[in-house]
Amino acid sequence: MYNTYLLTEEQQKLQRWAYELAQAEFQASAERWEREGTFPWEHVATLAEQGLLGFTLPRAFGGLERSRLEAVLVLEQLARVCLTTAEIAHICMNGPSYAISRLGSQALQARYLPEVVAGKCLIGIAITEDEAGSSLGEMSTRAHVQATSVVINGRKCFTTIGDVGGTFEVVVRFGGEGTRGLGAVLVDADTPGFVVERVYEKIGGNGIHEAALRFEHCEVPCEQVLIEGDPATSNGFKLVMRAYNALRLGIAANSLGVAQAALDQLLPHLLQRRQFGAPLAAAQGLRWRVARLVLALEQARLLTYRAALLSDDYGFPPAYETALAKLAATEVALQAADEAIQVLGWRGITKDYPAERRYREIRGWTIAGGTSEMLLESLARQVFRRYEQSAGHAPQAE
Ligand SMILES: Cc1cc2nc3c(=O)[nH]c(=O)nc-3n(C[C@H](O)[C@H](O)[C@H](O)COP(=O)(O)OP(=O)(O)OC[C@H]3O[C@@H](n4cnc5c(N)ncnc54)[C@H](O)[C@@H]3O)c2cc1C
Repeated sequence: MYNTYLLTEEQQKLQRWAYELAQAEFQASAERWEREGTFPWEHVATLAEQGLLGFTLPRAFGGLERSRLEAVLVLEQLARVCLTTAEIAHICMNGPSYAISRLGSQALQARYLPEVVAGKCLIGIAITEDEAGSSLGEMSTRAHVQATSVVINGRKCFTTIGDVGGTFEVVVRFGGEGTRGLGAVLVDADTPGFVVERVYEKIGGNGIHEAALRFEHCEVPCEQVLIEGDPATSNGFKLVMRAYNALRLGIAANSLGVAQAALDQLLPHLLQRRQFGAPLAAAQGLRWRVARLVLALEQARLLTYRAALLSDDYGFPPAYETALAKLAATEVALQAADEAIQVLGWRGITKDYPAERRYREIRGWTIAGGTSEMLLESLARQVFRRYEQSAGHAPQAE
């Protein structure tokens, strides 16, 4: 087999290592977290032992400081075996802990990063509110800045790891209107006034819960401000969103793994199952669907690897390339999970096969991290802006 993605020997070795690790350590219980709805703390410990929670974090704080492409390669292989476990690694590699490593003070880095690396503190991100989903300018959770502290009041909904996270990057309004004045503050879950209001029941992905969080006069020292909001500008919001691109790209990586897992299951079934005296794989209608799926997966993978190779001044992947990758990867994952059910026939919707679980687990990911519609809107905006800036010449990605 030739080296189709032009990966180095070391990167290919890393891929194999991650896949073998996932098979040895995470495969056996991949179904259990979903069935029991319990958080896999055992896997957090294994991820920490293997250096995967601090994979992208600075060496100075115990991390491995590996590249974003390497993180993508690892997540893809973990998600191919157990999406729940991959999601935990992803939150630590790409979420608020990574944002702290790029934007936080030395004191914040020293306080939080070693805890994340050791698996003692998972840091979630709380942005969404009931009235502010896609439209973040309508956010109403407020930060009131005092002499030495910041007081937070408001409510967030559907925060991943909301019930088990040790700390949250809470996106808040420091003043202003619309996206002006938005910024982010780190709030520990043991801060007085931090309340886990409820945990949502959902279609799938039940090993990891989303929760509604309430902040009742939650007071934290000013040093906990990660991104200051300026009521006169949208600069804070822009920085929050730049950091968020790392999370978006991680979702793309996990989605590639899910799409590959669906193919891994679908291909042998098409070869083995016989109907009308021939394997299903002989039916052109099914063969071409597989070919279309592979085309979409290859496109998504190339887009994701490309975005992982690029970064802005802060070390976050760029918005345009990340939006393309996230759109393509989440959509092919959903399509592949659905196709796997279809070609399995009645088996696909039973609990005897992982196809139905995979579909339920991935269903939310075209919504999470910026919906497909919002990503299309952001891409369209950038395409038209670039076209206008280039005075009518063909739009360029750069
Ligand atoms: C699995 C999962 C995990 C999540 N984890 C987190 C988390 O950790 N932290 C967090 O803060 N949030 C989290 N979210 C919430 C997520 O960020 C929001 O669901 C998302 O931003 C969309 O907001 P909404 O669901 O309120 O949809 P709405 O904004 O109400 O939109 C509803 C639908 O309308 C579409 N729509 C809206 N406006 C337009 C328009 N102008 N044009 C075309 N279509 C439009 C949307 O794309 C969507 O399909 C998570 C969501 C999921 C599914």
